[in-house]
Amino acid sequence: MTVAENLAAVRARIVAACEACGRDPSSVALVAVSKFHEAAAIREAYAAGQRLFGESYVQELAAKRKELADLPDLQFHFIGHLQSNKVKALLATEIACVETVHSPALARELGKRVESASARPPGTAAGGEETARRHAAGLPVLPVLAEINVGREANKHGALPEEADALIAAIEAEPALRFQGWMTIPPDDEIATKAAFEALAALHAAGTQKRGRPLTLSMGMSGDLELAIACGATLVRVGTAIFGART
Ligand SMILES: *Cc1c(COP(=O)(O)O)cnc(C)c1O
Repeated sequence: MTVAENLAAVRARIVAACEACGRDPSSVALVAVSKFHEAAAIREAYAAGQRLFGESYVQELAAKRKELADLPDLQFHFIGHLQSNKVKALLATEIACVETVHSPALARELGKRVESASARPPGTAAGGEETARRHAAGLPVLPVLAEINVGREANKHGALPEEADALIAAIEAEPALRFQGWMTIPPDDEIATKAAFEALAALHAAGTQKRGRPLTLSMGMSGDLELAIACGATLVRVGTAIFGART
């Protein structure tokens, strides 16, 4: 199977999953997770119409950006564990979204670094209005998701559900960040995965209603994208089913 064939099969799975639960297929975005695969594989997916990709390692992303500089409308989401000392290098890759903001400290570091890429007008308050104003003024604003460890797994990153409000507040306090939704990596076990998807969907429903604008619910991978879509995912992150096994 070629990347183009795999991609078509994954798109068909998304359409079928949406139809099974009465959702519009255009309400689910696909991030093609290209980590550990060559830039050539991204080119194949690009030729098949895919524009949005996911990468987990800053150095690998930076190298691919260079190799793919001739593809201007290529977009990347960062989906790996982000350390504060890698933020500057990550921003140099012109990332479209950081899906894995896991702590208030990381939110502050990201906000500060995006802001220092441009002068902030003096005497302006932080917060949602200031973010809108920056956006209108053409200053950089980075969309981010809050990574939530809904499965409460010790070996996973992300805020615990009871820490989610504080994390989102820290994101929303940064004028150069735009809070765009929730992301999770669920436990391996199928029953726990369903519980995790439902828990994140509940946070998404309440938080979207509170803010009155559409927000992202990023969950679902190669093995569980149907379940994620049934639970309300608006973005699925699929690697293996598109690019094959990672070495
Ligand atoms: C690698 C990765 C994926 C893709 O997983 P597959 O099972 O290969 O589809 C999705 N999300 C995150 C956060 C990942 O690290």
